Amino acid sequence: MKEQDISSSEPLRTKKREKAGDQDGKISGKALGRTVEAFMRLPGIGRKSAERLAFAVLGMPKEEAAGIAQAIVDLKNSSRYCSECNNITEEEICGICRDVKRDQTVICVVEEPSNILVLEKTGTFRGRYHALLGALSPLDGVGPEDLKIDGLMHRLKAGGVNEVIIATNPTVKGETTAMYLAKLIKPLGISVSRIAYGLPVGGDIEYADENTVQRALQGRREM
Ligand SMILES: [Zn+2]
Repeated sequence: MKEQDISSSEPLRTKKREKAGDQDGKISGKALGRTVEAFMRLPGIGRKSAERLAFAVLGMPKEEAAGIAQAIVDLKNSSRYCSECNNITEEEICGICRDVKRDQTVICVVEEPSNILVLEKTGTFRGRYHALLGALSPLDGVGPEDLKIDGLMHRLKAGGVNEVIIATNPTVKGETTAMYLAKLIKPLGISVSRIAYGLPVGGDIEYADENTVQRALQGRREM
């Protein structure tokens, strides 16, 4: 069964100059090359990892491989952004926004919906979120109108929120976005705070870069 699947595509080792196989000559076959290139589009996946994944898929029973492909198709077909906070959801409003037990007075602003998942895993934040779907980057031509800032301001002006925690990334873009938002939100009489940066838990100060140590010092709290 497995052998049949492989040979039903291009015969291996006959096409040497496929895009994905150019560098090392190890990969040949149109379908395999396409799969490797498809995996390489994912964040954090280089050529080596992509090849490993492609071969792993090749070694799977057909149904299992089809299951992966189907999961991706379903994800794209059924997922949408929450109309309230831009989290990923299959409904109009996401589970977090619908949860009446969550603190309605605090909104945590993040860049991407994936950040919500990370924060939720900590279990420490019980308010609601707002994903901007990006960060300000004047050099790349990304301005406030390209982000979901209007939606955030609309939520804040509707009342009931008295604190906004800005959890954009500790990058130039994230900082620019945080400062822009603070200027916009403070006049509404809402308290604005920025998440603290610090040293990685279990890490050693010796190995942290100066910027991180500086931020950790600035973000200190009383004990
Ligand atoms: Zn939501």
